[in-house]
Amino acid sequence: MLTKRPRGTNDFLPEDTAKWQYLENMLRGICRQFGYAELRTPIFEETALFLRGVGDTTDIVQKEMYTFEDAGGRSLTLRPENTASAVRAYVENKLFAGQQPVRLFYMGPMFRYERPQAGRFRQFHQFGVECFGAASPAADAEVIALAWEFYRRLGLQGLEMNLNSVGCPNCRPAYRQALQDFLRPHLAELCPTCQERFEKNPLRILDCKNPQCQQFLQGAPTTLDALCDDCREHFAAVQDYLQAAAIPYRLNTKLVRGLDYYTNTAFEILLSDIGAQSAVCGGGRYNGLVEELGGKPAPGVGFALGMERVFSALNAQEIELPAAPGIDVFVAVLDKQAQTQAFQLACELRSQGLAVGYDTLERSLKAQLKYADSQKVAYVLLVGGDELTRGSVALRDMQSSEQIELPLPEVGAVLTARLLK
Ligand code: ATP
Ligand code: MG
Repeated sequence: MLTKRPRGTNDFLPEDTAKWQYLENMLRGICRQFGYAELRTPIFEETALFLRGVGDTTDIVQKEMYTFEDAGGRSLTLRPENTASAVRAYVENKLFAGQQPVRLFYMGPMFRYERPQAGRFRQFHQFGVECFGAASPAADAEVIALAWEFYRRLGLQGLEMNLNSVGCPNCRPAYRQALQDFLRPHLAELCPTCQERFEKNPLRILDCKNPQCQQFLQGAPTTLDALCDDCREHFAAVQDYLQAAAIPYRLNTKLVRGLDYYTNTAFEILLSDIGAQSAVCGGGRYNGLVEELGGKPAPGVGFALGMERVFSALNAQEIELPAAPGIDVFVAVLDKQAQTQAFQLACELRSQGLAVGYDTLERSLKAQLKYADSQKVAYVLLVGGDELTRGSVALRDMQSSEQIELPLPEVGAVLTARLLK
């Protein structure tokens, strides 16, 4: 029986993983520059974490979770995102008791039961950061700047940073009320999802994709109109920082996160090149989440970006990532008697730090050289024949075809010196 990979998942082959590693290393480098350190949490968590941490009125919890019962009868869920786990880890490991803020990043697979299509998978990969313990607008600007630096460094064009503020528990209730009052006359005409949201999660109606709902929203009050003084000041300062960092943005009053624990800044980076799934990054501040998950109240701000969508964008804009470095030298075997010594030499050179190719197919010399050439190797060592009897090997420079004889003990040093040039 031939089994196929599950719908909505991908195999990443070596030519793909080389690119993944390149991006991951770039992200690690940026995080180091910004002072963010890696957090690794379990791929599955207790289901209750996501019910509370993502929210039971969200699409994720309502229809996208991979939930199962383990043999011990526990309800577990494959993580659909990493923020809830990061908050859990912050509380469980008492990171709140150490130096603040705590700056963390993560990357890895996430799982959502969605309809697979371009840019939308059931197993996909996110990179994200969370900054805990800093309530200041500089922290919001810092995480936004970190995300922006990644896209800037990749050279992607046409990115649009959308920015909004959703207020706080002081000013939101009045806004919520005002929005409900505004929409109430049209309640019966809203889409079924928005009718459901009307009581539980009315802010989410603002970002409904249904054109009719959008029509009824024309002239609706915005969260920005309703911000309290603190929130207004916070949002103004975030914008000052973004301007100072030359990060372009546009205000988008329809950009919301509906849940109570989201506060102040919400942002999303869009890229129209990659079709309908145009959000490449989403984030914001969540000052209520740590408490929601059982910790002492602590502010937090972060974002998550979808790696597959970054690759789609790179492809669409024909941006090539550098290829993975190849091998430094290929050890070719001249005759059967030389096999063991050639193998030994290859191991020896690897332990000296070189990347060494070696033929495990016992092919003819001609075939070995053809292979070495196909790998664009700069040097080949020819092991065997009279040279080996004299305790040496031939080193061939593949570009100039120049060949010199080297005593075995000198090979490593000579090659290392040449490769460094
Ligand atoms: P969307 O509106 O596209 O469903 P979302 O609001 O569910 O996005 P978030 O939960 O904020 O997305 O996740 C952050 C990022 O992760 C998104 O901006 C997107 O780039 C990526 N992402 C989300 N879901 C998927 C998926 N199923 N496949 C691939 N990437 C995804
Ligand atoms: Mg989604």
